[in-house]
Amino acid sequence: MKGQEKNLEEILTRAVAGERLSFAEGVALFSSSNLLALGQAADLVRRRLHPDNVVTFVIDRNINYTNVCEVRCRFCAFHRAEDSPEAYVLSREEIFRKIEETVAAGGTQILLQGGLHPGLTLDYFLDLLQEIKARFKVHLHAFSPPEIVYLARKADLPVEEVLSRLQEAGLDSLPG
Ligand code: SF4
Repeated sequence: MKGQEKNLEEILTRAVAGERLSFAEGVALFSSSNLLALGQAADLVRRRLHPDNVVTFVIDRNINYTNVCEVRCRFCAFHRAEDSPEAYVLSREEIFRKIEETVAAGGTQILLQGGLHPGLTLDYFLDLLQEIKARFKVHLHAFSPPEIVYLARKADLPVEEVLSRLQEAGLDSLPG
């Protein structure tokens, strides 16, 4: 354990100094649970790259447009079956109201994510994004990769095509 910590310290010292790390060293950092040391090193790198000490951030809001999801991952406490009394799909009005509140609070970004709902089609999302962009000046950070793949399968289109259409409709970026 001590040897591992020492190794971590050496790798972080090199990272802070701006040296290039090897793949194995990257894996070692990724596997480490010493979040304090990793966070401190990340902060030192930030200070090296931005000596004027300017920190920026965005105010955004996560809007989960539906909790219906047909994947039903076992670890997930969020999803509900379509016929569950707790299932919901937010109406457009509700989504717009949430965006309005965000903008009023100084927000500039909206993250839209939801379950994989069998009834929500690509056209539904294209319309939704277009309407949001017509009403609000916000950055749309939306849809996880599984949502995109699911939409592509349902629309029988390549993923690239779905991404292009969503982008044309107003999608600005994808969450990781
Ligand atoms: S895909 Fe996402 S929303 Fe659906 S069950 Fe899995 S974790 Fe939950």
